[in-house]
Amino acid sequence: MKLKMINSSRMPVYRDAGFELYDAGLTSETFRKESENKREPDHYIYSRYRNPNVVSAEEEIMKLEGCSWALLTQSGMSAIDTAVSVFQNGRETRPWLFFSEIYGGSISFVESILKKRRGIDIHYFMPSDGAYNLKELEILVSSLKPEVIYIESVSNPMLIVTDVPSVVRIAKRYSCRIILDNTFATPFLYKPINDGVDLVIHSVTKYFSGHGNISAGVICGNDDMLMRSAIEYRKFVGHMLSPDDAYRLETQIKTFKLRFKRQCENASALAELLNSHPSVEKVWYPGMSGHTTHSVAKKLFRNKGYGGMITFDLKGKNKTVKGKKRDRFILLVSEHIKLIPTLGDPHTILMPVESVWGAKYPEPGMIRLSLGFEDYADIRETIEMALSKL
Ligand code: PLP
Repeated sequence: MKLKMINSSRMPVYRDAGFELYDAGLTSETFRKESENKREPDHYIYSRYRNPNVVSAEEEIMKLEGCSWALLTQSGMSAIDTAVSVFQNGRETRPWLFFSEIYGGSISFVESILKKRRGIDIHYFMPSDGAYNLKELEILVSSLKPEVIYIESVSNPMLIVTDVPSVVRIAKRYSCRIILDNTFATPFLYKPINDGVDLVIHSVTKYFSGHGNISAGVICGNDDMLMRSAIEYRKFVGHMLSPDDAYRLETQIKTFKLRFKRQCENASALAELLNSHPSVEKVWYPGMSGHTTHSVAKKLFRNKGYGGMITFDLKGKNKTVKGKKRDRFILLVSEHIKLIPTLGDPHTILMPVESVWGAKYPEPGMIRLSLGFEDYADIRETIEMALSKL
């Protein structure tokens, strides 16, 4: 069958590994232009370089983040690798500063790849009393003068919200570039590009894909030079997303705002319930006035919500009792709320905090919940049933 236009309203999936370039003239012209590393090429060459489905899905993310370019990668980690590599030129003399409460996989990447293999001088900035102290940050940045500062808008699992505009102001004063992981806040709550962050990354695996069935990442920005450098890195290292995943992502991301709004509403309602429940010792949710960064969250998120994650600690007279209660709770809710090590799924899922973050939080009663977008009544019923039986 000859290729012809079909009256479909959707973009087909272009699974071509290499695209047809017809003749020697177009081939040399296309390869010459490829070195410009444009976001959308006139002619595609090879799907590892650029693919129409990937470019099309990237446009959905550009609209959401309010940025002039977005580049999809095959995982959140490859988006992080691409983002940090954009600021490397083999002549690094200044140190890099990472906020300490970032995703554990990012810390492992920093330690194993950036520090051990690439020899970057790494420093960490830790929160004090559950929040990042800006005065302490300014003192550290003024003495360290880091090349790059790496932050997350909302941390995991204690949900510390970073005062991003203030961090950006400090960073700019000392000519530091900023990379921000916006996975937990999402652009529904906050768009860091508007505040001057240089590169925003996401684990698209989470809320953007939203169904627990795609592994992907994205880097977003406004600076054209950074984009070209990121395109080149993604191409040479091979961090490209597949056309099938890009197609599925483009379909799923269309419902992102609806889904995330509901996840925030479910989380707010459940945080209140947990907070007043006699079986619960403590709740961490940035929407609650008792959270150490509630005022920062209010300033950043402007009443749009406070995210879909909650961490709470079960009551118990000692660690052994708390651990037993946690195990019973996990068993009791397991038909509806499963233990799955991810977040942003359609259904509410959970993680025992001590099993994953035990070195930092050796608290057997602590559980992290990722709220889904199912009916709140179903979540409430399951949680109330389990808590009543502890
Ligand atoms: N950033 C954050 C905040 C995450 O939670 C994760 C994964 O859990 C990642 C990045 C890495 O993303 P991926 O698993 O898609 O590589």
